[in-house]
Amino acid sequence: MCEFNKSIFDGKISKMIESALDFRKDEYEGSKDYMAGLADHQHPEVLMIGCSDSRVDPALICGSKPGDIFTIRNVANLVPPYDTANDLGHGVRAAIEYGVKALNVSNIVVFGHAHCGGIKAAIDTAAGNAPEFDFIGPWLTIAENACRQEVIDPATGALKSIPIEQLKIYSYLVERQSVLHSIENLKTYPWIKERVDAGSLNLHGWWFDLESGDLWVTNPKTGQFLPVEGH
Ligand SMILES: [Zn+2]
Repeated sequence: MCEFNKSIFDGKISKMIESALDFRKDEYEGSKDYMAGLADHQHPEVLMIGCSDSRVDPALICGSKPGDIFTIRNVANLVPPYDTANDLGHGVRAAIEYGVKALNVSNIVVFGHAHCGGIKAAIDTAAGNAPEFDFIGPWLTIAENACRQEVIDPATGALKSIPIEQLKIYSYLVERQSVLHSIENLKTYPWIKERVDAGSLNLHGWWFDLESGDLWVTNPKTGQFLPVEGH
């Protein structure tokens, strides 16, 4: 076999090619049966919907092996609602459909994170300052509702809107709310709702704290986020 000469690349790409060669050595030569078994089929139990952000790779954080998770990553880990007429997000919908209908996953995790640039841009978009990109602004309208939040006013006891300027400071509120909205959007897919109602599919909301490494997960009953204890 005439092998491609990797030395024509340098810098980061060269290192990545070296890592791919190491991966072949460790994972293929080291565990032939496991990788050979994956060659013609996959049976991941988890569909992960994470952010494209380079700092939060769900597979890396969760210690996953090849075949463990079926992954979708997009700007701000958003799930568009079920809508066959609106093609904003059809790529995401297609991957969700494949994960649920063809792979029959038993869990879907929406994996949000702290300091999400996509969510910061969504807050700007909700404030009328959409970023000057061709596709990002329209995509982030999916998170619009998460940018409208209310708190109880301690003086009056009534609900009051959180000003958008404050949401920029406390963007984690929007990051977590957006995860919950994406879970609600998942339930608008009829074949997801069917499976959730039948108990064969579980939906999870996670939020990863980039600063501490803490993983926060939602209580399925209340939707409240809490950090996972341990170690
Ligand atoms: Zn992000």
